[in-house]
Amino acid sequence: MWRRMALVIGCAVLAGLAAASWIRVHEVAGERYIMTSERLAGSAQSFARELHGRLESADALVRYLSATDAGVNGSLLQDRMLTAEAFHGVVVLPYPELPADAGNPADPTTRLTGLSADDRLRLQGGQSLIRALTPATGGTVLYLLHQVNSSSTPRLGLFEIDPGWLWQGAADLPRQQSMIVIDTADHLLFEGSALPPEIARMVARTPAERPTLSGQPLLRDWQQNGVAWRGAVVGLDTRIGRLSGPVWSIAVYGQLASLPVAVRSITDDLLPLLLLAAAAVALATWYLCGCWQRPLLRLEAALQALRQGQFRRVNLSGSTDTPRAIAQSFNLAIIGLESRYGAQELLSEIDRLLLEASDLEQSIEPILLRVCTVTEAQVAAMALLDRDAPAHARSFMAGCDGAICPVTRINLEPETTLALQDAPQGLLVPAHQLDRYGFLQALRERGAEICHVWPILAGSEVAGMLSVGYRGSMEPSAQLLRYGAQCAARLQIALSNRDTDARLYHQAHFDSLTSLPNRVLFRDRLSQELAGVGSGSPGGALLYVDLDHFKRVNDTVGHGAGDQLLTIIAQRLRSCVKDGDTVARLGGDEFTVILRQVPSAEAASEIAQRIIDALQRPVNIGGRDHQVRASIGITRFPDDGSNIDELLRNADLAMYQAKDSGRSCAVFFDRKMARASVQLAESGLFRAVRRREFALYYQPQFALQNGELVAMEALVRWQHPREGLRFPKDFVPAAEQSGLMVEIGTWVLESACRQLMLWREEGIAPGRLALNVSLQQLRASDFVQLLDQTLERAGLPPQILELEVTEAVFADEDARVALRKVAALGVRVALDDFGTGYSSLNHLRQQPVDAIKIDRCFMSEVPDNYQATTLLATIIDMAHALGKQVIAEGVETLPQLDLLRQRGCDIAQGFVLARPLQVADATERLAQRSASTALLRRAG
Ligand code: C2E
Ligand code: MG
Ligand code: MG
Repeated sequence: MWRRMALVIGCAVLAGLAAASWIRVHEVAGERYIMTSERLAGSAQSFARELHGRLESADALVRYLSATDAGVNGSLLQDRMLTAEAFHGVVVLPYPELPADAGNPADPTTRLTGLSADDRLRLQGGQSLIRALTPATGGTVLYLLHQVNSSSTPRLGLFEIDPGWLWQGAADLPRQQSMIVIDTADHLLFEGSALPPEIARMVARTPAERPTLSGQPLLRDWQQNGVAWRGAVVGLDTRIGRLSGPVWSIAVYGQLASLPVAVRSITDDLLPLLLLAAAAVALATWYLCGCWQRPLLRLEAALQALRQGQFRRVNLSGSTDTPRAIAQSFNLAIIGLESRYGAQELLSEIDRLLLEASDLEQSIEPILLRVCTVTEAQVAAMALLDRDAPAHARSFMAGCDGAICPVTRINLEPETTLALQDAPQGLLVPAHQLDRYGFLQALRERGAEICHVWPILAGSEVAGMLSVGYRGSMEPSAQLLRYGAQCAARLQIALSNRDTDARLYHQAHFDSLTSLPNRVLFRDRLSQELAGVGSGSPGGALLYVDLDHFKRVNDTVGHGAGDQLLTIIAQRLRSCVKDGDTVARLGGDEFTVILRQVPSAEAASEIAQRIIDALQRPVNIGGRDHQVRASIGITRFPDDGSNIDELLRNADLAMYQAKDSGRSCAVFFDRKMARASVQLAESGLFRAVRRREFALYYQPQFALQNGELVAMEALVRWQHPREGLRFPKDFVPAAEQSGLMVEIGTWVLESACRQLMLWREEGIAPGRLALNVSLQQLRASDFVQLLDQTLERAGLPPQILELEVTEAVFADEDARVALRKVAALGVRVALDDFGTGYSSLNHLRQQPVDAIKIDRCFMSEVPDNYQATTLLATIIDMAHALGKQVIAEGVETLPQLDLLRQRGCDIAQGFVLARPLQVADATERLAQRSASTALLRRAG
């Protein structure tokens, strides 16, 4: 590098020097030219003046010498002339007789004295004439002609001027100068050095153009044998005083200095200058290399790295100011480039995420992490407004530390959406205005002190918003905000394709039949409410609405009608609550209602009652009125609980309590229910009820008289998905305690009746079907109606059914009333587990009991134990005495069977005869029985 630098600097310096020298040479040449001109002019002028003076003196001398008699032939005059150094001599001649033109032109005297009439007059007037004569021997002789008196006769005196005297000044000219004097008649009067004739003529003609002695001489240039000459020409008019003559041209000339001469004149100065320049070049090269080589090499390396996509800074801390400044500018440019490159990469990543995501929501969180990075924000959040309720939104949030926050539900003030609609470029929300926007609260909690929010529009509507939050009060730079806006624009494009997403969203969040929010959205909304209630606002209430006997509608008029009914029910439910409250369908005939900001329990109760009333109004479907009743469980939040599952459990429990309390009513949750339900919840019975994880087994009962299968008892089993078959003792007490038994009992009743109907259709039905009914079922207000409708639907005669109740029902007034109604329907009643409880014989007498079932515990000791055997026999007798049929259960041995037959027991049920059977086995058993009966009849 240093070689190139030295070369460049050297060339630059040399070029400068050459230019300066060239100018200098020309200056010198010019100066010399002027100087030569001035010198020549000065010489010419001074010589002309000198000549002028000499001619004047010569004339005066002639006049003096001619003033006295010249003597014969001028002898006296010649004597006087001896001392006059200006003249060589004098010739005195008579005036020529002939006119000037008549003389012999070849005779020099004739030529010299050839006077014109004017000349003669001038001479006679005492004037002198100057005449030049060119003798045959060459050269030019000058004469002064003057009239002299020779013995009183006018004669013509020819005074020959001494050239040595006249031209003596020419010897004083400087060495380089030469001189020539020519008169207008082309007489070469004096010639210092020979000049070509044409140049001599040019010189002679010059004064004719401007004959002057006093003015500036005229300058003339010419070339002679390749040499430049310059001459200064002065015209000398020889009419001086009484002297008369032609104009003389006096030219002083000399060679002009040529360029090489000028160059030579500066050569001496040039050499030290060149040495100085070389030293300066070396110094400058050394200095510049020192300053620039290292920085340039580093810059080059950084640029090469940049080409490979690496953004490397240059450190030139030790360098001089300029490279350091360049490095700083370079580094700033690199930082800018790096930031832009990084931003573009992040934006591309966002594009990729948006393109790859089948569901926008799945990609929001990774996108937000990138939004944080590209906008250098502390935290970024995106809110997606619910389509059906723009006041609600789901908020996704991510922090710059990579933290992804759980999705929350937020409420949006209408002003916020309006403000954003009018500000497509986004809103800057400074610290003191953060309070105004509730949805920015979450960003604030994560340390944001200043936020920027961009709307995400779908058409002209706000479909969402992108917010970023910064620590400190410094507003983010315009560039960062541009990146934010670009992110928002990308999300907007993604959202504009959201019709498909919306459909998917709708499918995922709304019930397809009723268009109500489904379980997912319900949980979302409830969690949103729970998040909002802590801050001093009144809590809300969750209502669990379960339709009583909805299934019957399905069974009687079909699923299409059932769907219609559910749609109408959904509309009625919606109409009972205000905007902002949520009515959701969890599935089947279960609905939930989230009441926002309920000031008191009474208010919740009023709304629940409004719902019950609204649902009770008959619904006409297919020309038939259906009456739907609802049982509602109410739980309040945050008083009763603060998490979704807990509240759902509470409301569910309360709802079962409502069913237990006779249906068509609303019951508030209280803690006692929760305690009772803990075991239940753990047992998974709630789920079992919902999923109908039950099955019925059928145990045959035989007439002891003839051994005929006369009845079947339906016994419920829980088909636990993991633990297998569970027996009533494991879940019935808990189900009874929680109220779930009502639901289970209804299912048992309907399933058993349907099965009986099928057996009847096959012609193999038993004479009676026994069903166990718990106290809670009997107490439910609509039990009898349910029983009646079920029988009717299955087309069964009431007496084919025998309800087994325990003695506990007699202690309950409602149950007793219901029992009477059951009996009034024609349905048989059997007193189950007789002998284990408070066996009041009076009850037996008063209550509509058709049969007693002697409990298994009486069987275990018979026939071996006498007292037990006696007691059994007494019970049979007493029952018969009261007109009741006697059924013995838990008969396990043949002796027991024999004893029962001997004592007149009517019917026996027990393992020795038949175990409880699955439907298929029971059906087979019934079919065999029918076949053998038919055989016996035919044989009989
Ligand atoms: P339960 O009504 O007295 O039913 C007779 C029980 O005795 C049945 O037990 C049956 O399997 C059992 N058993 C029958 N023969 C024998 C025998 O020879 N030896 C022994 N050791 N046991 C015998 P399971 O099915 O476990 O039912 C127990 C109780 O659960 C029933 O007693 C009844 O009170 C209740 N239960 C059963 N199904 C229902 C129902 O659908 N609703 C209601 N409310 N209670 C039911
Ligand atoms: Mg029973
Ligand atoms: Mg029993």
